[in-house]
Amino acid sequence: MLCYCSSCRILFNTNRIEAKNSYLTVENVRVDCVRCGLMAKVLDGRFSFDSNGVQTLLEGPQFTVDLLTQLKQLAQKARIEDTTPEKFVSEAEKLDSILGFLKYCVPKTNGELKEFLAWLIPVIIGLLAMKGC
Ligand SMILES: [Zn+2]
Repeated sequence: MLCYCSSCRILFNTNRIEAKNSYLTVENVRVDCVRCGLMAKVLDGRFSFDSNGVQTLLEGPQFTVDLLTQLKQLAQKARIEDTTPEKFVSEAEKLDSILGFLKYCVPKTNGELKEFLAWLIPVIIGLLAMKGC
């Protein structure tokens, strides 16, 4: 599940929450930040877990399925077009102002951005996996 640490301003994926064959509504859940160890927020939403524990985002007040789909498309386009970090962040902010936090975690150079996107895209695809997006 995606988590956001407001101290480090990083997004990371946690595997600390495990479930199988169930639904889970996440609201105000916090986990230890992978970097600083302070409390990081798990992004709110309603998730389903299949028999292998693979999670799918069903709905989320912050990161909706639509927004994740748009962000995935933007990230894929940015990766192909060798977009600058500034352009990627400004286009993400146009999708939704909540994505403005990306400016704190997106790296500074085009090469590093590509590595960041190479990590981000599968995370988004994982969240959308069972919605058939
Ligand atoms: Zn942190």
